[in-house]
Amino acid sequence: MATKLTDFSKLCVHTLTTKPWNLKQCIENYSAAGIHGITIWRNVLENQNLKDAKQLLNDFGMKVVSIARGGFFPSVEKEKRKVAIDDNLFCIEQAAAVGSPLIVLVCGADGRQSLEKSREQIKEGILKILPQAKAAGVKLAIEPLHPMYAGDRSAINTLAQANQMAEEINSDFVGIAVDVYHLWWDYNLQNEIKRCGKNGNLFAFHVCDWNVPTIDFLNDRGLMGDGCINIKQIRGWVEETGFSGYNEVEIFSDKYWATDQKMYLEKLKMHTWKILDAGYWILEIGEKL
Ligand code: ZN
Repeated sequence: MATKLTDFSKLCVHTLTTKPWNLKQCIENYSAAGIHGITIWRNVLENQNLKDAKQLLNDFGMKVVSIARGGFFPSVEKEKRKVAIDDNLFCIEQAAAVGSPLIVLVCGADGRQSLEKSREQIKEGILKILPQAKAAGVKLAIEPLHPMYAGDRSAINTLAQANQMAEEINSDFVGIAVDVYHLWWDYNLQNEIKRCGKNGNLFAFHVCDWNVPTIDFLNDRGLMGDGCINIKQIRGWVEETGFSGYNEVEIFSDKYWATDQKMYLEKLKMHTWKILDAGYWILEIGEKL
């Protein structure tokens, strides 16, 4: 059973959820909306003085939950694999500079080689950057992606594969981000979540919903409660492992990016509570809208 939430303290929003906003707008508006958890996508850190960013986060009482994203390790080209390592090392620096304890890894895949080969290169890549991650105090979360992305975005497509890799690497600094959008369909999900938690590898929990029908496989994610994912049930399984971290809302949506972002954020809050069993907040926020 998922716990009943009675406030916004365990809510985090990914900056890409409100893509039209820059970092400052995200920080100001999330904070004004009573949301103090933030996962920062690296696009909003471009051309940004990281000290200023950290100061701004502090001024608004924001807690950085993670940085998205590192990864994209595999390639048939050696040079590209090297570029990826350098980029991940830079990502670790960025994470440390803004006070993020975690980097989410979209591990990557190269359609010109087998998935097994890509997974080997993912493991090599993680092992290469691990010493710097440890030194910086930044953990790494492997995020298994839905199999529809196996050709180009990730060769790790089930929680079982992610569990296996994290267990092989066997480091306190390497774990997993469980995202309902990528994993909801898996008949063995409950067991794999249990296994993930038991081994101390459940680092993060991402939520959104799967629209039926889905009109775009990247940018048509739904608001919690609008699709077919039983988020409450999955969240219950996650919490049963002892996970007490944030519910991170990560929605890529051309539809919602085209709307007023402040109103969208309020709508998002309402949907969060609706699906996360939040008692009176539903009524209170629902009445305001
Ligand atoms: Zn995610």
